Amino acid sequence: MSEELGECPHCGGAARFAKHPETYGQGSFGESHFVECECCGCRSKSVSDYGQTTDRCKELAAAAWNRRAAPVVELPETEWFGNDDAGGFAYDPDAIMAALSSAGIKTE
Ligand SMILES: [Zn+2]
Repeated sequence: MSEELGECPHCGGAARFAKHPETYGQGSFGESHFVECECCGCRSKSVSDYGQTTDRCKELAAAAWNRRAAPVVELPETEWFGNDDAGGFAYDPDAIMAALSSAGIKTE
């Protein structure tokens, strides 16, 4: 289990592993592991250790926590680009690359 926990996607707070007991009626089914934000309390999904190791549970919970939706990148306004005689228009590729770069997306 080597996966680092990223910061909270909501508040930027620190994250930690946590767990709670799994019960059903009078029965006990081990524990569920999840990641939670120390600041705002939001959580990843819970992964039960019923039938798998604690390390595997933490790995799956960390993967869920660390998953990030692709950022929304606002592209620059459409501009005439290139030869006017071509009669078409397109985004300026340099402007698109700059917009992606400023959103923190690697473009190389
Ligand atoms: Zn948070």
